[in-house]
Amino acid sequence: MNFVYPRAAEILAAKGAFINNEWVPVSTGRTVPVVAPAEGVIFAEIAAAGPDDVDRAVKAARAAYDGGPWSQLSPIERGRLLQRLGRLILENIEELAALEARDCGKPMRLARGDVEAIARYFEYYGGAADKVHGEQIPFLNGYYVTGEREALGVTAHITPWNYPLQMMGRTLGPALAMGNATVLKPAEDACLAPLRVAELAAEAGFPPGAINVVPGLGHEAGAALSEHPGVDFIAFTGSPQVGVMVQTAAARNHIGCVLELGGKSPQIIFEDADLETAIPVVVAAIVQNSGQTCSAGARVLIQASIWDKVAAELAKRFNGLKAGLPKDNPDLGPVINAKQKRRIEAFLERARTDNIPVIGQGSLHEKAPADGFYVLPTVYGPVPRDNVLACEEIFGPILAATPFEDEAEALELANGTEYGLVAGIWTTDAKRAVRLARKVRAGQVYINAYGAGGGIELPFGGVKKSGHGREKGFEALYEFSALKTIVMKHD
Ligand code: NAD
Repeated sequence: MNFVYPRAAEILAAKGAFINNEWVPVSTGRTVPVVAPAEGVIFAEIAAAGPDDVDRAVKAARAAYDGGPWSQLSPIERGRLLQRLGRLILENIEELAALEARDCGKPMRLARGDVEAIARYFEYYGGAADKVHGEQIPFLNGYYVTGEREALGVTAHITPWNYPLQMMGRTLGPALAMGNATVLKPAEDACLAPLRVAELAAEAGFPPGAINVVPGLGHEAGAALSEHPGVDFIAFTGSPQVGVMVQTAAARNHIGCVLELGGKSPQIIFEDADLETAIPVVVAAIVQNSGQTCSAGARVLIQASIWDKVAAELAKRFNGLKAGLPKDNPDLGPVINAKQKRRIEAFLERARTDNIPVIGQGSLHEKAPADGFYVLPTVYGPVPRDNVLACEEIFGPILAATPFEDEAEALELANGTEYGLVAGIWTTDAKRAVRLARKVRAGQVYINAYGAGGGIELPFGGVKKSGHGREKGFEALYEFSALKTIVMKHD
């Protein structure tokens, strides 16, 4: 299939906010330019919603939830709508993938995978909508007690730019399945494809107010949404710094929130590991999406006895990587914007002044435009455990390799950052794998695999600075609902 830059980007330009299934002009009258990171050129603009627009969206969601057509639907009907939306998304896969690829700079094959993933989120949660049931609770004689799961009301969803479509599906899917009415504030850096999905949701038959989207700046639209007293729950995915602000706003309104924040996830390779399987996965886990994945395997911990062998293999693989344009389907694209590129380069400058050796480094694809925000994929090592490269989330294609002597040291290193999102353990010793998996502080642990976040069916979330609460899988349906206990005396 030929890659055609979509006109949809221009068509979407400055259309406004999507409220009650309609495009409405925003009250600020302002727009935000949309830059194609692979080329460094502005190619569209989005509306910059302000507090008044957020208020309008929250009120639309409230009306939908409190007696509107959305509130009248049975779980079966909600499930059907979600599944229909999933199908509609797949029917528009090329348009959506092209939008996502140009907006984020990611290779087309990755963007197509993201479209398939958002469709799968809606299918999965569509199928689950009528399967969340309550329970009968034994109590005193003469009483009949049930625990029932009910929607929370109006849920606010604030998402980042790294996987705009996937994040939309991950957070809206379970919320809608449970019957909440939603307001989404996607990231200003990349939100064209989610805006298009909002239109598709209306086409699929979602009643007005069930899905509202307010594009705009974080400190404006995002802050207004997280502080809005009409919101009943907030799902935030983004940086730990903004996570604190969102959680503070939630606390002021006495509502709950789920925070999916950053990571510095380790992959631990023991001397008995199957290296042929492990090494390509270790490389892919940091190179995918140019390292801009919360669950990126940003650290590799290598048993000292196999350091030379693993380092040589990593060098070979990194040296062969190429960064380029989405349409050329390179190993990786650029990073999202100039600011992020400068931020990553500051880390690399620090590595130079700290004399951290480069083990291997990729190059630019011959057709990569000079103005694109490219960062060469690089593996450094040995990186001391307290060096910034080993501690801070870089959010770029940079892998920090550190040697360890034994299991105890591996565990200490793995748990030695502020984060706790994902960990990978590579060993053929099953007992060691399970022992370590139980001791590693992370929301999910992979053994002889690394799923960079895993499938839609698998609950996902962090501990420590990586956040709290769980999305994905059936668990998310509990996150977006509350348990109500109903007690009846019958004798
Ligand atoms: P960010 O926190 O800057 O932005 C995330 C979202 O929050 C955007 O929509 C932004 O507009 C909004 N926002 C910004 N300021 C706000 C404010 N004051 N109030 C309310 N909303 C505000 O993060 P980012 O740079 O877009 O994303 C990168 C971070 O996200 C990384 O730390 C990464 O690890 C994390 N992330 C985590 C997961 C996960 O599932 N754990 C997934 C993807 C990204």
